[in-house]
Amino acid sequence: MNSCSRETLQEQEKTIGIGWRMIDTMRPQILVTNDDGIFAEGLTALRDALSAVGEVTVVAPERPRSASGHAITLHKPLRMERVRMPWGGEGYAASGTPSDCVVLGIYSLMPHCDLVVSGINLGPNLGEDLTYSGTVSAAMEGAICGRPAIAVSVADYEKPDYGFPARFAAKLARQVLDHGLPPDIVLNVNVPNLPEEEIMGVAITRQGKRRYEGRVERRQDPRGRDYYWLGGEVIQDIDGEHSDGEAVREGRISVTPIHLDLTSYAVAKTLEQWEL
Ligand code: MN
Repeated sequence: MNSCSRETLQEQEKTIGIGWRMIDTMRPQILVTNDDGIFAEGLTALRDALSAVGEVTVVAPERPRSASGHAITLHKPLRMERVRMPWGGEGYAASGTPSDCVVLGIYSLMPHCDLVVSGINLGPNLGEDLTYSGTVSAAMEGAICGRPAIAVSVADYEKPDYGFPARFAAKLARQVLDHGLPPDIVLNVNVPNLPEEEIMGVAITRQGKRRYEGRVERRQDPRGRDYYWLGGEVIQDIDGEHSDGEAVREGRISVTPIHLDLTSYAVAKTLEQWEL
């Protein structure tokens, strides 16, 4: 339902009604989602900034889904509710995961989709944490659906300021729409939580390493039974040169191009030498 339906729609008329709202199909169609839930402040900031770039459709989880990874819902029905958003418009709150939202948006709601932007996440998405991230996974799902995709995070949990990260996301979105991205590529963006004048520029980075110390805490519930709490403290400075984490520590915006192909071609060559 991509290019041919787009042309058909444009031939027919410039604006079409999708449910309750009119969409200008001549503008770039942007799907916005997140993993912090549809009423997260970062999503509103992102939508506001991207409205200057194209027509934004918001489909996001009805409740927070951080660290949900790339899960999709296959064994129960999904629901989408039209909800009134903080900016006065409406969005779709879905009962599923961030990746569910992307599939629902692209294949059941939007006349066509030119770009998927996920975020702005509360907290960094660096190193191996990408594999846990609902924010990054939603962008990956966008790439799987054949759309250019960006994940945006503000690298702090305390008093995040989404204003500058949102403006940067809009600038990047314009360039992605102009230049395109190779298939299977997602841009993972982490913005330091600093005033704009203190940001030291943009670094094109590689995915670093992010490991945790004291990952499991055992505690006791009021009935005397053990329970466990996962997490731990980040082990500092192991992410390496030119990494996403290093850039953020240095006050720079990190932009990492990541790809969906997880194959290690170097090790594949070695394995070919094994006697299997
Ligand atoms: Mn999150």
